[in-house]
Amino acid sequence: MSQPYHHYEVVSQLVEKAAAAMHLDPQVKELLREPVRTLTVSVPVKMDNGTVKVFQGFRCQHNDVLGPFKGGIRFHPEADEDEVKALAALMTYKCSVVGLPFGGAKGGVLCDPSELSTAELERLSRGFIRAIAPIIGPDRDIPAPDINTNAKTMGWFVDEYAQIQGAYRPGIVTGKPLALGGSKGRTEATGRGVMYVVREAARAFGLDLEGATVAIQGFGNVGSYTAKNLHDLGCKIIAIADIFGGVYNPDGIDPYPLKEYEQETRSVKGFSDTNPISNEELLALECDILIPAALGNQITKENAANVRSKWVVEAANGPTTPEADVILSQKGIFVVPDILANAGGVTASYFEWVQNNYNYYWPEEEIDNRLEQVMTQAFWEVYGAYKEKDITLRIAAYIVALGRLEEAMRARGWVV
Ligand code: NAD
Repeated sequence: MSQPYHHYEVVSQLVEKAAAAMHLDPQVKELLREPVRTLTVSVPVKMDNGTVKVFQGFRCQHNDVLGPFKGGIRFHPEADEDEVKALAALMTYKCSVVGLPFGGAKGGVLCDPSELSTAELERLSRGFIRAIAPIIGPDRDIPAPDINTNAKTMGWFVDEYAQIQGAYRPGIVTGKPLALGGSKGRTEATGRGVMYVVREAARAFGLDLEGATVAIQGFGNVGSYTAKNLHDLGCKIIAIADIFGGVYNPDGIDPYPLKEYEQETRSVKGFSDTNPISNEELLALECDILIPAALGNQITKENAANVRSKWVVEAANGPTTPEADVILSQKGIFVVPDILANAGGVTASYFEWVQNNYNYYWPEEEIDNRLEQVMTQAFWEVYGAYKEKDITLRIAAYIVALGRLEEAMRARGWVV
């Protein structure tokens, strides 16, 4: 998956708007204005051909007033510092809006994983963890997978960190394989969280989900579990697209056989009983709920006027540009913001970390019950702020997040 998402300035503007709407103490805003630190590292890697190549990487720690920093590490040729900073800040607000005791961080390594052998990737992953080891730790900063990193990468991270420390500390990262203390339900959690938020929003806004029509952009981890969960809830998934193209059926598409088909053929394209649909057409479909679950910056000032759904639920990070956000709002389209909609992933990561700290593992049912509780409560808190003021749900989510950060800053004596 390619493409940078939000940039720091965009997140800062959202914070500004929310701060103005809630009369946030300016000292709190000042403390959140810049990340606590960004560590830039150079990671030398012995390549398979015997040469040495140096890769640049970053770990940005935005704010940790609520607890240890938390956020993924991506391997991407365009991972730049501004993007990593913006994503770190998003993590601060995302963890806060759902009430997790974590701060926000993000990491990136400039590389094209498709050009590296598995052995080179392993050496790079281990080298990066050695380079950032002085600033991470199970009580300091807990990385996780992101674009082009996965459970296997986390396994290398855990092992390298154990070698550095001389002690096995599985809580150093989340998103681990089950064999290393990963959590049941983590893979499904983001999509499941999207479903809980949609379910609660439907209660709040009086939308009948039985037969409600849904279009989803992206059919990877988040898109496919969102589709399955909403299908199970009675929604009708009428369109799904991936990077290669999309499929459409106004009578509904069953996401379960579609996932099997996609795993065999690498795309949803050509699935039986469907018509082809382009990504642009999907974004402009008349439906109840449009769910971008692929990349950032998909709904822009160029295409926002074409959106004809009642709701946009941001399963992806930063899928709507600020200009598009204004257009959607003017059209009366109700947007469930990313920091709320896709927070199920980091919530399950929190459960993984708790289990690692306890060294005691919960059954999947318990994880799901707790996820449901966290997402439901977060939705209603954001909805409460939304009802109280004449603002968008996005600004309401930032208000809830900033409120919690302010309270913690006061309690710690950072502001008087
Ligand atoms: P993924 O790599 O598993 O899937 C991405 C999907 O998007 C694939 O189906 C891919 O084909 C599709 N896609 C890529 N480019 C596209 C394009 N140009 N047009 C249409 N479709 C395209 O990624 P994921 O883990 O599902 O993440 C999706 C989004 O959700 C990202 O924005 C990510 O940051 C966000 N997110 C993920 C998690 C998580 O737990 N995985 C948590 C929070 C947020």
